[in-house]
Formats: sequence, structure tokens, C-alpha cells
Amino acid sequence: MNMKHHTITILQLYPKAMNIYGDWGNVLTLKRRLEWYGYSPIVADYNPGDVFPEDVDIVVGGGGQDSGQITIQDDLLAIAPALHRLADDGVPMLVVCGLYQLFGKSFTTARGNVIEGIRLFNIETIAGSQRLIGNITTKSVDFGEIIGYENHSGLTQLGDDVSPLGIVVRGAGNNGQDQTEGARYRNVIGTYMHGSVLPKNPRLADFLIEQAVTRIYGDFSPVTLIDDTFANQARAVAMKRPR
Ligand code: GLN
Repeated sequence: MNMKHHTITILQLYPKAMNIYGDWGNVLTLKRRLEWYGYSPIVADYNPGDVFPEDVDIVVGGGGQDSGQITIQDDLLAIAPALHRLADDGVPMLVVCGLYQLFGKSFTTARGNVIEGIRLFNIETIAGSQRLIGNITTKSVDFGEIIGYENHSGLTQLGDDVSPLGIVVRGAGNNGQDQTEGARYRNVIGTYMHGSVLPKNPRLADFLIEQAVTRIYGDFSPVTLIDDTFANQARAVAMKRPR
């Protein structure tokens, strides 16, 4: 079947202020895998003050410095109703680190600034006294082992009703204490993993793609299966790297 006319719009949130440690690679991975599967991806950027687009199929957002999080805070709160609507409508999203924190209730920085979040996840983050930095591996039921790189001061506590994305095998995760990493709400995934995370975790990438395509076109029928040899090699190397 020719699916070239089957477009999928990927919205990248705040690429100017929130995009560190390779997070841009998440968008590139989704774009390339969609092309390989026979779909036509469109990448749209959203920065503060832009008009929030009507038709969005996947939302991706990266991490940032505390200052970047402060920069986007007001705008993020302004688009919160649109993001909640999309999430409740089943739109898949991936938010990493700084935006993961701000998809929760709030992030209190080491300087005591309280940055309000959009409360999509029932989570709360408070900066700890030291940064949690290094390679990280977790285990998850839906995506197997998830591999990435973390660098954050924030310690995140999940509310009782929130499922983590994975359980830490090596690394710190949400708070270095309870072994949880990331959070899930419907098809929204929050994680501390940079790296970028999607090139090394094709199952996660394909989850976002499949949810998006199925939601819009009824079913997901890739024209080809992807050879993930390189991704698997990258996973194996990353897992052996020192913390
Ligand atoms: N500034 C936040 C923190 O330090 C987020 C960092 C990040 O996105 N890597 O916790």
C-alpha cells in the first residue's frame, strides 16, 4: 500500500530552550523510522509565543537548564489546556528531563525557584544537593530494557497513582532512592533519559509511532520491518559504559 499521503505531524516543544544532551535525536529518530515505515512525517517546532498547532500526532520535548525551564514556564502554562486535551485524546508524547519535570506539578530549583508545571503527571520534583549524572539502564514490562544517560539535580517523587516508565537496574532514576524511573500517563511518557533515548530504544520509538498512526489511520501497517542491528549494537555498548 502506498502511504506517502499518510502524514504524521511531530511537534517539537521548545527546541530553542529545551534541547540538551542530544534530545534533538528523538525527533530525528521518529522522523526517520516513520519514513522507513512508509509514512510522511512533518516536523513542526513550537517555541514561546508561537500559535499552537491544531493537528498534532506526536509531541516531543527535551531537557534544559533550570534557566531554560524558567524561560518557558509561562508559555507552557498557557498551552497546558491544549496539551491536556491532546493527552486525553490519546496523542503519544515523549518528554525528557526538564520537560518531564514540568509535565508534573512543579520543580523547585536548588536556588529555591518554584517552577510550576502543567500537572499532567501527578509527580513533584525538588532539587537535591548533588547532580545525578551517568549512564542508566532500567527494566520495563512494555519496552524491555531501556538505556540512556541522565544528568539532573531534580529528585522526582511519583504520586501513588502514577506508574513509572521503568525500574532502575543501574543509575539513579527519579530520585536515587525508590528505583523508579520516569512516569506514564495514557500514551504520555516522561523520562530522565537523554542520550538521545529513542535511537537506542527502538521499542519506545515504535510505541509512539504505532499509537500515533493507529489513532489517525485506524491501523499501523508498515511497508517494511526495520533492521535494528546498529541500534542494538549501540545498546550493547551503552550498557557496558562506566556509570
Ligand atoms: N534543570 C533540571 C535539573 O537539573 C533538568 C535538567 C535536564 O533537563 N537535564 O533537574
